[in-house]
Amino acid sequence: MASLDEPLRGVVGGKAAVRAEKAFGLRTTGDLLRHYPRRYVRRGELTDLASLRDGEDVTVFAQVAKVTSRRMKARRGRLLEVTVTDGSARLALTFFNKVEYWERQLSPGRHGMFAGRVSTFAGKRQLAHPEFKLLAADDADKAAEYAAELIPVYPATRDFSSWDIEKCVRVVLDTLGEVVDPLPQDVRERHGLDGLTTALLGIHRPADLAEADRARTRLKWDEALMLQAVLAQRRRAAAAQPATARPPRAGALLDAFDARLPFSLTGGQRDAGGIIAADLARGHPMHRLLQGEVGSGKTVIAVRAMLQVIDAGGQAALLAPTEVLAQQHYRSITDLLGPFGQAGRLDGADQATRVALLTGSQGAAARREALLDAASGAAGIVIGTHALLTEHVQFADLGMVVIDEQHRFGVEQRDALREKARGTRPHVLVMTATPIPRTVAMTVYGDLDTSTLTELPAGRSPIATHVVPAADKPRYLARAWERVREEVAAGRQAYVVCPRIGGEDPGPGSGADGRMNDADDPESFVGQDEEDAGPRRPPLAVLDLAPALADGPLAGLRLRVLHGRLPAEEKDAAMRAFADGLADVLVATTVVEVGVDVPNATAMVVMDADRFGVSQLHQLRGRVGRGSEPGLCLLVTETPEGTKARDRLDAVAATLDGFRLARLDLEQRREGDVLGAAQAGRKRSLRLLTLLSDEALIRQAREEATALVEADPELATHPALAAAIGSLLDEEQAEFLEKT
Ligand code: ADP
Ligand code: MG
Repeated sequence: MASLDEPLRGVVGGKAAVRAEKAFGLRTTGDLLRHYPRRYVRRGELTDLASLRDGEDVTVFAQVAKVTSRRMKARRGRLLEVTVTDGSARLALTFFNKVEYWERQLSPGRHGMFAGRVSTFAGKRQLAHPEFKLLAADDADKAAEYAAELIPVYPATRDFSSWDIEKCVRVVLDTLGEVVDPLPQDVRERHGLDGLTTALLGIHRPADLAEADRARTRLKWDEALMLQAVLAQRRRAAAAQPATARPPRAGALLDAFDARLPFSLTGGQRDAGGIIAADLARGHPMHRLLQGEVGSGKTVIAVRAMLQVIDAGGQAALLAPTEVLAQQHYRSITDLLGPFGQAGRLDGADQATRVALLTGSQGAAARREALLDAASGAAGIVIGTHALLTEHVQFADLGMVVIDEQHRFGVEQRDALREKARGTRPHVLVMTATPIPRTVAMTVYGDLDTSTLTELPAGRSPIATHVVPAADKPRYLARAWERVREEVAAGRQAYVVCPRIGGEDPGPGSGADGRMNDADDPESFVGQDEEDAGPRRPPLAVLDLAPALADGPLAGLRLRVLHGRLPAEEKDAAMRAFADGLADVLVATTVVEVGVDVPNATAMVVMDADRFGVSQLHQLRGRVGRGSEPGLCLLVTETPEGTKARDRLDAVAATLDGFRLARLDLEQRREGDVLGAAQAGRKRSLRLLTLLSDEALIRQAREEATALVEADPELATHPALAAAIGSLLDEEQAEFLEKT
């Protein structure tokens, strides 16, 4: 059996090995063979030159149309300009030295591959000093054979071109024997998959596209099965850990709470609640992801679960991503509990517990009291931001951890909180309102069980969303402010959201405010298009817009500002004033994005809406339409019609389906970005697999992997698979260490 661990140096030679390592970190024959072609072209097939973008590193197939050379004005020597064509669009290739040499080779009519970085010079698309390789002039006899031959196009760099890679791959493949296959034979047979050797040959030098396809599918299976096997092992290991069982107790706090609840639970809430109640009653830790649209009522489910834990003698911690949200949770949970949250106070009920709030910036006295209540066990529920993760915070008996809006927290933070439980591990409930496409849930959150709330509580009104083209139709913007005034006149409230704080603001994405309380989250800017990459004015800022509105279109209304740089008390005061109806309009950054709940707020105007991501806009608009009055969301933008940015806004306006928008978001971001920093290394292990289009394959691989791990947790009977997983994990670990 051939090994894929052989250093490249010995096989392809020192020079190529150095380039391969420098360009892509490829060290072994296996690394090289897993550097797959991006696509294939047939000889004679030309690249669509009109689709090239500035700054892209490309390998194009084109035909030489024209060759001119001239003496340069500014410096000595001659400039050679070769125009190549795909039959319609043209691209200039420029060469500054060895002009005669290049000129002799690049005669009009020749076909070739040209590689370089696209730039624009004097209005013309060009590749300066491209690498190139001319294809042999067609021999009439061999024409048919040639035409059928597929040429692989590899991700390449300037120093390690697609054809360099092709050459190295050929050397490796020519000397390769049969390689060890990590996919168990019965899995291969069940799904009609090729062996690894066949697949590697098939992906690098397919006879036709069908063969390349078969090879890709098989190699995707490698990725999917290994990933799912790792996740299955993690789930199994986690499930094997002991946890204190917290079964429900009749006639206690939870029952009293239910009796007080001013509404009845939706079917979805009852189902998810029942599953969670059963999880908590088991002697192993729960690891559950609860996802549900904005406003679907996740908090109530979490509170009920926390009460079950308290009834069983434990404590629960609720971790929120921002102070605003922690404070809001504190208020709404205290309200929901009423006398049952006031233990030891005059108006406390008999069975009551206490709710403590811990934030980074609260006063010393309040903090001391909260810490004491957590440590003594007097507080059944402890709510906080990442301040909860610090070492000073101790619990008497932490039985459950609830993490709200998971996408802001990394796995390490989840773990840090888990460590707070002495002895056994706490049950963990993760809540997110960012709809996660199923395949992402199966991969990124693959170590969690999932529950999804699909219905909204009855009586919710729909949110109408409109795009307001401020540049082409200034009148529409004026109308937007009138709408805000109308809502306020009707006794309701409005949000105005800006992408930036302003003032001393060092600029978007600087992270100066710190991640957790940061309004100017760099995520806000993921959606920017390259097509309008020219100098743009800075995004609108809260501190500029608020006074302008107060003196202009919203004169006479009660305005408050809210952003991440305000001290905690001021943030809380602003939020509270707005919640209590003491302000008509809240001019804010994305601090209002997550979870903020003011049912009387019915309108939202998002300024420079194109600066936000699709899912983020969807989150934002979830802030309105939480009461019985219909919600209105106006997306103000200066981007012209027909641009991608504008299309994205139209998509948000056209649907309220968060899952569809999440898919759209995913399509527009790179997979690695979606997987996030917390999943370091996973990028590398997902080369072919695309989370969106490979859903069926991922699901099948998950079933196979789960079965394999259940039958044989250490995969002792599948040594090749176990070894492949081992080196994958090493690689992830190494990459993670490099990053930190
Ligand atoms: P999210 O899932 O976005 O966190 P919340 O838990 O904040 O949603 O719930 C949004 C609002 O809906 C809250 O005011 C909550 O009290 C209310 N709510 C939750 N469940 C129901 C229900 N079954 N019927 C009516 N209102 C509900
Ligand atoms: Mg919420």
